[in-house]
Amino acid sequence: MSFQRHTLHLPVMTPGTVRSLQWLRFGRKLARPKLYMQAAIHANEMPGTMALHHLMPQLVDADAKGLIEGEIIIVPTVNPIGQAQLVGNQHLGRYHFLNYENYNRNWIDLAPAVAQSIGSRLGADATANVARIRKAALAALEALEPANELRTLRVEIQKLAVDADFVLDLHCDIHAAMHLFMSARDWPQAEATRSGPAYELAADLGSEATMYNEPYPAALTFSGVNGALWARLAEQFPEAAIPQACMSCTVEMRSQFDVSHAQGARDAANLMRWIIRQGIVKGDAGRLPRLKAAATPIQGMDVAYCPTTGFLAYHLEPGAKVKKGQAVCDVIDPANPHGEAARTTIHAQTEGVLFARRLNGSLAWPGLVLFRIAGAQRLEHRAGMSGLDD
Ligand SMILES: [Zn+2]
Repeated sequence: MSFQRHTLHLPVMTPGTVRSLQWLRFGRKLARPKLYMQAAIHANEMPGTMALHHLMPQLVDADAKGLIEGEIIIVPTVNPIGQAQLVGNQHLGRYHFLNYENYNRNWIDLAPAVAQSIGSRLGADATANVARIRKAALAALEALEPANELRTLRVEIQKLAVDADFVLDLHCDIHAAMHLFMSARDWPQAEATRSGPAYELAADLGSEATMYNEPYPAALTFSGVNGALWARLAEQFPEAAIPQACMSCTVEMRSQFDVSHAQGARDAANLMRWIIRQGIVKGDAGRLPRLKAAATPIQGMDVAYCPTTGFLAYHLEPGAKVKKGQAVCDVIDPANPHGEAARTTIHAQTEGVLFARRLNGSLAWPGLVLFRIAGAQRLEHRAGMSGLDD
């Protein structure tokens, strides 16, 4: 069996323009376990694409040798709309130019449609329920008639991922350490047992901050909706046996500029070890690396919002361990002549790992997110917030 490359065509939005994207299948269709991986939904986030560039030759090789037990779908650049957002020699991603919609919001929550079509038939047989739910979810996607290019992209991409056992959505931040956003349903017992796909992903990838969210965050991220399908149905039908049949994770692969062959090769090796450990590809995964940082709740994430305008200078690098009250950055008023008095210093509001920040010299404005810290303590001022500020 050898890999296949497919092209997905999107509908025309303006006369004379047409976009498409490529996806690849390794292993056999419908074989288990199924892994779905995509990169660059925010378009200008290429570390994941680089990791896949280094991973795919290993999968081609494994496929040729018949070592792939399951099915692996890879979409190296999932967003051709965002890829085309070139302005004045800059590539601008994250938001759709058409209406400023964040590309990683508004994915489709399939739980209501699945509940309506087969909810009454969900019983005590977990294996049968998983098969029924996957079939109904795919049918719900096939029944949709997306009105435009982006909506078509969402529907067609979710069709590729909806029946996966594992979904990895590869992103990066502006300037960041490797970090993961997980579902609480995949994590709680992981730390106690030091095992399971979620724990092993954090350990194999060398995550420096792993955060677990509500099982179904309101923001409808891609990784969110894939996990939430199972969480929502389990909550709605407590009498039925509904496992968390998809482990879905947002993998933040450091900084936008952290793209190199050396880093890509390391990330590919880490991903491949995890893939082997999950039994998707045959081989020896070796010893699990030590987890770098215990996972923390998303409600413990300190998000610093800029109180004023100015330009930024940071005191700390991503990955730094910080204490509550420690100075993280200055917002500097360029026209204030009094030196230190021109600086508004922003402090950490919790103890934890500073895992993401902006670049030195960036302009800042009121309300802008300046940095994020993963802390173990749930923060009063973060109650009810998903942490996924645009
Ligand atoms: Zn992103």
